[in-house]
Amino acid sequence: MKKINIAIDGPAGAGKSTIAKRAASELGFIYVDTGALYRTVGVFAVEEGVDFDDLEKLEKLLERTDVKLKYENGVQKVYCNGEDYSGKIRTPEASLAASDISKIPMVRAFLLSLQRDIAKQNDCIMDGRDIGTVVLPDAQIKIFLTADVEKRAKRRYNELLEKGEKVDFDDVLEDMKKRDYQDSHREVAPLKPADDSVIVDTTDIGLEESIALMLRTIKERL
Ligand code: C5P
Repeated sequence: MKKINIAIDGPAGAGKSTIAKRAASELGFIYVDTGALYRTVGVFAVEEGVDFDDLEKLEKLLERTDVKLKYENGVQKVYCNGEDYSGKIRTPEASLAASDISKIPMVRAFLLSLQRDIAKQNDCIMDGRDIGTVVLPDAQIKIFLTADVEKRAKRRYNELLEKGEKVDFDDVLEDMKKRDYQDSHREVAPLKPADDSVIVDTTDIGLEESIALMLRTIKERL
């Protein structure tokens, strides 16, 4: 039977992962965070000293890169060549490495079939930047989750503070703006809502309300 696929796209910090994770667990679907895949390839390339502009070296690197998603007690883990990368991909440097490397068509092509295979085999909520437009154009439901950049930066800043990290709000805001610009201006698979997506703006609503709104939007369309 055809699986149910829900695509959630939107800029960094719009709350995609938190909201999608909760919605997926309510629906009994798996949650697929595709940003983790780009982060992993970005971090691996940095570790291996591969310059992102050196496409020949990058191609060779991808030939020996085996990225896998696994679900452990319902939590997504990402592995690269057998090593768990789930922790080390959550740094500001990894965010920028992901944004930089994700501009490269070869990298996007490399991760495409992995994402499609997961969606073919599972009822899932998949979040990213190009899920509704490129990865799963036939997804039954497409949602574009967004919020003002200042608000998104504030949320990310608070999250980092809670984790005990020392950060400056202006740096977080600048990083966010830089990623927004890069993600929406790249030539391949830029961040933009699919024509048939529902736009959900969370600027003025809290987390619980956003989750409820998302679930309502999904259930109305299922
Ligand atoms: O979602 P997350 O912030 O973890 O993604 C990190 C980066 O990976 C994004 O800024 C974006 O450049 C890239 N990405 C992408 N396509 C996706 C998911 C993430 O280009 N489907």
